[in-house]
Amino acid sequence: ADKYEASVSDELIEERLTELTYNIVFVTSEASPYSKTGGLGDVCGSLPIALAARGHRVMVVSPRYLHGDPSDDKFAGATNLNCVTKVHCFGGIQQVDFFHEYRAGVDWVFVDHPSYHRPGNPYGDIYGAFGDNQFRFTLLCQAACEAPLVLPLGGFTYGENCLFLANDWHAGLVPVLLAAKYRPNGVYKDARSIIAIHNLAHQGIEPAATYGNLGLPLEWYGALEWVFPTWARTHALDTGQAVNILKGAIVTADRILTVSQGYSWEITTPEGGYGLNELLSSRKFVVNGITNGIDVTEWDPSSDEHIASHYSMDDISGKVVIANCVCEMQIKCKIALQKELGLAVLPDCPLVGFIGRLDYQKGIDILLSATPNLLQDDVQFIMLGSGEKQYEEWMRATETSFSDQFRGWVGFNVPISHRITAGCDILLMPSRFEPCGLNQLYAMRYGTIPVVHGTGGLKAKVKKVPGIWAFAPLTKECMLDALRVAIRTYREHKTSWEGLMRRGMERDCSWDNAAVQYEQVFEWAFMDPP
Ligand code: ADP
Repeated sequence: ADKYEASVSDELIEERLTELTYNIVFVTSEASPYSKTGGLGDVCGSLPIALAARGHRVMVVSPRYLHGDPSDDKFAGATNLNCVTKVHCFGGIQQVDFFHEYRAGVDWVFVDHPSYHRPGNPYGDIYGAFGDNQFRFTLLCQAACEAPLVLPLGGFTYGENCLFLANDWHAGLVPVLLAAKYRPNGVYKDARSIIAIHNLAHQGIEPAATYGNLGLPLEWYGALEWVFPTWARTHALDTGQAVNILKGAIVTADRILTVSQGYSWEITTPEGGYGLNELLSSRKFVVNGITNGIDVTEWDPSSDEHIASHYSMDDISGKVVIANCVCEMQIKCKIALQKELGLAVLPDCPLVGFIGRLDYQKGIDILLSATPNLLQDDVQFIMLGSGEKQYEEWMRATETSFSDQFRGWVGFNVPISHRITAGCDILLMPSRFEPCGLNQLYAMRYGTIPVVHGTGGLKAKVKKVPGIWAFAPLTKECMLDALRVAIRTYREHKTSWEGLMRRGMERDCSWDNAAVQYEQVFEWAFMDPP
């Protein structure tokens, strides 16, 4: 045995590890639990942990947002690395600090700059989107490109041979900077970049005059050039010239990923491509779709810290009173939710929920027109969401007119989202399009039946679970029909309903499977020259 061990040198081990594992640098505008406005935050908060658990060295670079409330500092566990770095951005030199927390096997790195310290969410406040978002996310990308070179994490930098996983347009300059700034100067020659598209509807389009601010050589303008069609121009002298950061990423990244297979096809169609479909089709040989997993530790009804009563597949009695086993003393999730929101405590009344951005994409207009019809039935309906003002106002008004049956929680609240997922019987998702969609996965894990518009990621996710309600087309009538069938099944066929709950709960939605597929794409990225 001694002889065998002696023959295995440290160099050999290092060489083998380098072949099998990657130094991965996620760049993202949000990562849960530090920052989150939607699915992007969930993915960038959990996929890195799954990849680290498979032996990779993983760093996540995102901004250190401070909202002015020290009691709600999500970054309290991160310490300053005292590695002040200067980056060229918007015609000047900006100084950034890096904060760091090593948690769950991942290096969480937070770029610190005064432009990230303001009330609101990562992108805007009550007055709308921040006017300097292009600056804020250019800064993020410039800093993220420096991080593997300068940060001695655990004593060693990540170095040049890393793989950048840039997420959505906010991180879209990373592949462009690699191609246009670093590689021509001999840096990151063996690094690779992947752009992960979570939602193509947001592309980071700004006036062409801002190109000079991005720190890119003039000859690379074509990579970002974007020309609006004539109908979208505002006046006769408007030439429609703009820069499109996501386009730049699609042109320069070594590979392109989307968050479901269905979505990787949808983005190549005129309806789903938002003007980038032809470009994406031309690169289809490097496009892959990998369906998102979920964080099965955070979203686990048997240990969820936010819910009133724990339950599992073996004993779902903590969710709701099933059949005749009424036990007054035990607080069930459904009863607790009804009490918390001031609804009548009716364990047998079908409780329908909605969680999400109040946005046209999520089919809010359909929901809005269908709600009075839905509430003619003997049901309760709870909505949690924030977004467009008109819809927030509508939620408040509906709560007044249907105070016995409807509750509308305006705002972003993670604990409440867990309680709605656990307490409701049905989760409604009338999304117009859904690149992947996570809420239906959380719902299934919590024994809540998703009633969804069959589109993109939603279709792919629910189609293998018979009996889950996917309706199409997306019309008020179709949605109401689907809901009525679901509600009737809930009322009159309790045993089948319980069976449905269990079938959803037993699905494996963890990252394990997806992480292996990510590794495959990493391998392909390194097989071809950049
Ligand atoms: P998208 O990323 O398009 O918003 P997803 O379904 O992929 O949609 O992810 C949405 C995520 O954001 C889920 O974790 C959901 O629970 C959460 N979420 C959305 N709106 C709210 C809200 N108002 N409060 C708390 N969590 C929310």
